[in-house]
Amino acid sequence: MERVLERLERLFALGGGTGANRPGLSRAEQEAHDLVAAWMAEDGLAVSVDPVGNLVGRLPGTRPELPEVWTGSHLDSVPDGGRYDGALGVVGGLEAVGRAAAAGALERTLAVIAFRDEEGSRFGRGLFGSRALCGRLATDDLEQCDAAGVSVREALAALGLPPPDPAGCLERAPAAFVECHVEQGVVLAARGAPLGVATAIVGVARGWAEFSGLARHAGTTPMDARDDALVAAAEFVLRLRDAARAVEGAVATGGRIEVEPGAVNVVPGRARVSVDVRAPDRGRLDAVLTAVPEAHVHVTDPVPLAPGPTGALRQAIADAGLPVEELASGAGHDAMVLAAAGVPTGLLFVRSLADGASHCPEEETSAEDVALAVEVLAGALGRLAGV
Ligand SMILES: [Zn+2]
Repeated sequence: MERVLERLERLFALGGGTGANRPGLSRAEQEAHDLVAAWMAEDGLAVSVDPVGNLVGRLPGTRPELPEVWTGSHLDSVPDGGRYDGALGVVGGLEAVGRAAAAGALERTLAVIAFRDEEGSRFGRGLFGSRALCGRLATDDLEQCDAAGVSVREALAALGLPPPDPAGCLERAPAAFVECHVEQGVVLAARGAPLGVATAIVGVARGWAEFSGLARHAGTTPMDARDDALVAAAEFVLRLRDAARAVEGAVATGGRIEVEPGAVNVVPGRARVSVDVRAPDRGRLDAVLTAVPEAHVHVTDPVPLAPGPTGALRQAIADAGLPVEELASGAGHDAMVLAAAGVPTGLLFVRSLADGASHCPEEETSAEDVALAVEVLAGALGRLAGV
């Protein structure tokens, strides 16, 4: 397990600064890909780069004609990110593939994949490598620019990569994809469980609620003669919270508020609150939304995870003598893109410490939990790849 921790540390140090600094489609992300490619070769995997720049290492099975079994995650990071986000799924995946193959000859080829630009903190969208692979880029994705005015198209060119084919490049879909990722939350820690299996990737409803009132003099308008838009918005935020509290597994956030005219001595005439509601299935998402009819939202449907890989993870967790904990994934991850594209997908969560801190240098997961994750991932990959 030393090797996994050492490799995570090397990736963490790579971009300089106080945390992980490997922005998507940057030089630092490329260095991470080069480093992992060298480790893949060192571990005996056949290394290749797909047409959109994702790194793939393969350990051939005894029946290479069968669809492959994949694991992996991403190597880019947010600015000053943590050690484990993304990197654990690639480095731990590499370790697990080696271990699964060492346990006996497997029929299916095992592959570790490192997707490009998952975070989206540079260009704003994210999940680039997995979406480009699955043919799910939006028409204007390549024209998105970073803070320096560099577009995705230009960043790809600087890395020697051509613009992706809109149809994607998934010539032969894998039989299964299993992503291992740190939870980035507090659910597993609260349950005292090192690992958890995701049941679904939550659906997200995002939009705004707008309130209009009458902008009047703050000194001369009596309290009973006011129509205060911000007070209406504040009541809405409380209702939004209560609506989510009433539905198990749902969360709701009013993360941004805009007030007009926005002066200390004027009763607010207009207020706008952002709305972000998430729930594991459409029924629960709708149950929250029904309680807040003022919210105008765009809904991205929940993505169910597949019984095959999810069952293999459950079995491997039980084999390790651990409780089989289930939870919905509140974040997207590359797994969401592959699942939505029809690849049977599973998602293994590893307990986050430090109050679930993530996207910051304090992100923490114990060495023991990393070791358990590798053991369980190896077990699940072995089951999926077949003896
Ligand atoms: Zn991640």
